[in-house]
Amino acid sequence: MKINGLNIAVVGAGTAGPAAAVLLARAGHRVRLFERAPLNLPVGAGFLLQPTGMRVLQTMGLLDGLLPDTAVIRRLHCLDRGGRALLDLNYGEVDAAMFGAGTHRATLLAVLLRAAGEAGVEVLWDHAMTGLRRGGDGRASLIDARGREHGPFDLVLICDGAQSALRAQAGIACRVDRYPWGALWFIGRRTAAFAGDTLWQRVGSTRELAGFLPTGREALSFFWSMRLDEVPAWRAGNLDTWKSQVMRHAPQAEEFLGQITEHGQMAVAAYHDVRMKQWHGERVAVLGDAGHALSPQLGQGVNLALMDAAALARALAEAETLEGGLAAYSRARRRHLGYYQFATRWLTPFFQSDATGLGVLRDGLFPWAGKVPWVRRQMILTMAGLKTGFVGEAPANVQHPTSNA
Ligand SMILES: Cc1cc2nc3c(=O)[nH]c(=O)nc-3n(C[C@H](O)[C@H](O)[C@H](O)COP(=O)(O)OP(=O)(O)OC[C@H]3O[C@@H](n4cnc5c(N)ncnc54)[C@H](O)[C@@H]3O)c2cc1C
Repeated sequence: MKINGLNIAVVGAGTAGPAAAVLLARAGHRVRLFERAPLNLPVGAGFLLQPTGMRVLQTMGLLDGLLPDTAVIRRLHCLDRGGRALLDLNYGEVDAAMFGAGTHRATLLAVLLRAAGEAGVEVLWDHAMTGLRRGGDGRASLIDARGREHGPFDLVLICDGAQSALRAQAGIACRVDRYPWGALWFIGRRTAAFAGDTLWQRVGSTRELAGFLPTGREALSFFWSMRLDEVPAWRAGNLDTWKSQVMRHAPQAEEFLGQITEHGQMAVAAYHDVRMKQWHGERVAVLGDAGHALSPQLGQGVNLALMDAAALARALAEAETLEGGLAAYSRARRRHLGYYQFATRWLTPFFQSDATGLGVLRDGLFPWAGKVPWVRRQMILTMAGLKTGFVGEAPANVQHPTSNA
């Protein structure tokens, strides 16, 4: 007999939470989604949706509604301090129909929440969950920040992000490290100097990295790498001096940077590295950044979160027991997550660290590696999220509705 009619709590309405909530409610389970934020949807950070994440949304029937509000990205173009191409990768080299989509957190969330409403998910905003308490039968209740108890639930999905409050209470071994480096980010109006189909990066040493990602119809998301302990000094410093530093690496950003007139317009992002050997425990599963946060060097977090949701829904639909379904979920995600965690940890110090010698090595090695056809293909597949492990790859299978390719 298949599992049906579970009473499920999902904690966190970022990406993993609402995607899992939609899929499980559609499968006939009763789903409540708890989010600590009050209901409002700021534009949120810009990110690059990869073919893997798009394929999940397509299977859910949500991609066509999202794509018109995204920027179609075909190329990653990264220049070193001498203006040489460090990376110049085109999705189309692997598959002519393949592309990325630059969008905003709130745009994706709005699409997921609409589907959640239609699927009958009950969404509870302003509910910060702080505790997970088990009853004698193993079922878990949730305690919110005001001390109210919710549940018990047959299954709790922990989707509350990299700094999860619940992960440590789930009884699953986990290691969490915070990177000393993070980023300042800002979303502004796209200027003519930035092609609408290119994720553009400029690196100096390993201490300087600028990223410009077209997002939405007319926006540009700008990232500037910074050590987190240097942010207070940056806030106290002169904005024009900092802009000059950015423009030494990215001269064409002058007009765009004109939109930044005070420090407060730049948000700060911290990165975490979360390691777990499995992503399930007794009547709990961990999805998204809560289970495997990465530095955003490979831009995969949202896509991995969507894939987690799809894998969990599939595992539960195919299992005879809840325990079997949760174990199948961990198994299904192990190789893909293992590859991206390894690749991200390996790559991050070359782009964001105090080891400036690695920058010299990077500037010599990467352009050469990109000329070797097999390595180049692996780079593009890695960027697209399509590596299924160290050797495997998945087909992209996503085509833009307006594409003739
Ligand atoms: C600078 C930067 C750039 C990035 N660029 C990309 C990119 O280009 N492509 C990409 O795919 N990924 C990118 N990422 C990563 C991506 O943002 C995350 O991996 C993704 O958001 C993870 O989704 P999630 O649902 O697991 O967690 P989150 O999106 O963090 O959502 C967690 C949710 O849980 C809520 N919550 C937290 N605690 C509680 C609680 N106690 N109770 C209730 N609710 C709670 C939070 O308010 C939030 O809504 C980037 C990240 C950063 C920092």
